[in-house]
Amino acid sequence: MIRTLNNVNSIHRTMKAVGIRLLSLVVVALCCASAQASTMIHAGQLVDVANSQVLVEQTIRVEGDRIVAVIPGYVTEAGFEVVDLRDATVMPGFMDMHVHLGQELDPPGSYSEGFYMNSADIALRATVYARRTLEAGFTTVRDLGARDKDALFALRDAINKGVVSGPRIFAAGKSIATTGGHADPTNGLREDLRGDPGPKEGVINGPSDAYKAVRQRYKDGSDVVKLTVTGGVLSLAKSGDNPQFTSEELEAVVAAADDYGFVVAVHAHGAEGMKRAIRAGVHSVEHGTYMDGEAMALMKAHNTWYVPTISAGKWVADLSEQEGKLPAVVRPKAAAVGPQIQSTFAEAWRQGVPIAFGTDAGVSPHGKNGREFRFMVEVGMPVIEALRAATINAATLLRMEDELGQIAPDYYADLVAVRRDPFADITSLESPDFVMKGGAIVVSK
Ligand SMILES: [Zn+2]
Repeated sequence: MIRTLNNVNSIHRTMKAVGIRLLSLVVVALCCASAQASTMIHAGQLVDVANSQVLVEQTIRVEGDRIVAVIPGYVTEAGFEVVDLRDATVMPGFMDMHVHLGQELDPPGSYSEGFYMNSADIALRATVYARRTLEAGFTTVRDLGARDKDALFALRDAINKGVVSGPRIFAAGKSIATTGGHADPTNGLREDLRGDPGPKEGVINGPSDAYKAVRQRYKDGSDVVKLTVTGGVLSLAKSGDNPQFTSEELEAVVAAADDYGFVVAVHAHGAEGMKRAIRAGVHSVEHGTYMDGEAMALMKAHNTWYVPTISAGKWVADLSEQEGKLPAVVRPKAAAVGPQIQSTFAEAWRQGVPIAFGTDAGVSPHGKNGREFRFMVEVGMPVIEALRAATINAATLLRMEDELGQIAPDYYADLVAVRRDPFADITSLESPDFVMKGGAIVVSK
């Protein structure tokens, strides 16, 4: 009983919402935990990501939403339901550190959505994307920026309450940018619609704005802080890689984030912007397209995670080849970014930069997150390392490494299984045969 209460508090430790909200979560968690069946899962192969090894013929005992034991051999016990995965490889649930569940790029229409889609429209659509993501084996995601923060927070909370089916979500809410920067919500609008968004809307200029913006995210209920420290490929602006924050602004964001226990993730394509961010102490660099040797060395020295998002790079490069899909100002940026991200990833891996799995799904299609494994492995990452990137590494980046990302006692019973051996065929990870989240079976083929 006490353990369940602790779980709720720890998974929502950055939410710090009003007392009533926490109380309601505790009540719901108690109800749902007791509703789950006790299960003995017989695993033909079990991937032990902590020790980079594959165990054979194991039994995973699940009670409520947690794994309580991993036992050698196939064991049965009275009162436990047996799940037969003797012909499959069982892994910890996958974790995608970069998605946008509130959107799915479908150009050119996506560019006008901001004018007619309300919060409810976005939330409804997001429930479908969330379900697809979970069924693809992704039991935890980080949502790194939403046009409508309230839709994403509502989705996260509805999933936590068991109302909607989807992955555990750690949500950034509105990303923080500088004026005219990648996440300035008024970029590309005609002048009388642009206004002058400030820290509340996620636009800062100067260190004191930085504090206000981070504190606003705390008030909103964000779990993580997202910054756009360089230009972006899809924004209606010429440069995709210029630095867009000063070092002073970045240091202020990180200091404010530290006060509130936030992990800071930065979107970055250009090397100068990412170096400033790494030196300021951010926790992950997203995309990292034009990362140079100096940036890689800095990331190793600062233990900064790299979240590559090769999937999105490939997707927008494909779109750039199709007539009329992307605006003229975006097309050359999109064409360049796809091939570049994958080769940057390959070099970063060779250099020993810490890597956590992320796709940028929402730019690329939701539910296809597993393709990232293929893109990582085809340029030299061993399968076990790709699996570690999507489990134990991602959990460490989230500061949830004691509860997520491993098949071990006291961890959440988040599991994925495939019948085709992923060590022989990496594409088997793109359509799992079995998915369990928090002890509840989501997919069983
Ligand atoms: Zn993104």
